[in-house]
Amino acid sequence: MAETAEQLAEVRSSIAAATVRASRPLDSVVLIAVSKTFPVEVISEVVQAGQRVFGESKQQEAEVKIEALPSSLEWHFIGRIQRNKVRKLLGQFEVLHAVDSLRLAQHIETVAADLGCYPKVFLQINTAAEASKAGFSEDELRAAMPDLLEMKRLEILGLMSIPPAAEDVEKTRPWFAQLRELRDLLEQEYQVRLPFLSMGMSHDFEVAIEEGATHVRVGSAIFGHRSYRVEGELG
Ligand SMILES: *Cc1c(COP(=O)(O)O)cnc(C)c1O
Repeated sequence: MAETAEQLAEVRSSIAAATVRASRPLDSVVLIAVSKTFPVEVISEVVQAGQRVFGESKQQEAEVKIEALPSSLEWHFIGRIQRNKVRKLLGQFEVLHAVDSLRLAQHIETVAADLGCYPKVFLQINTAAEASKAGFSEDELRAAMPDLLEMKRLEILGLMSIPPAAEDVEKTRPWFAQLRELRDLLEQEYQVRLPFLSMGMSHDFEVAIEEGATHVRVGSAIFGHRSYRVEGELG
């Protein structure tokens, strides 16, 4: 068995164990295999091992892979979204994870109306207010909610965040809990459903699941270390 296939199996069993600890059904968690920087041949191994959902963070890099791999795969865009790439992204990706401002949401809405599609998106929250990271602050999000909810095209799945990485994953847990609590508050305040939480990466996806993650974005735990950094990479 390919090493990636073994690592995928390990990640899957860790996810299963975390859902048991959290008394959640196994199918309440979507594993997004983050394949950025890895070539088609390596991704193919993971496809052959049964993985169907993949994450990429650069449109041009992803385009080549999406064209080369089976059309039955589902692609999630997890990188920073450039306005001039939105049209292509909407044609290529099932879900956009990092909608980080009202202005960007409005632009996606306009392009979606033009294309006649209904994009699924997460709203990215800058939980720890880090200067290096994009995302709504809680106040910005509250101010934007009425406009976001008016949008006819955007299907807002829920919230996404990339909390500060810490050696000790227990230090990250409160950030995950905070995102869940914010989601709960928004659902009450605006009488909406925001059922999904995109949070947790290789180092901390188990804790994220214990705190309610429904979409975990796992790269290096499956594919191994990335040999170069991707522009705009936040992990
Ligand atoms: C790269 C990346 C990941 C995956 O990171 P790993 O630590 O390799 O699991 C997840 N989310 C985002 C937004 C990323 O850029």
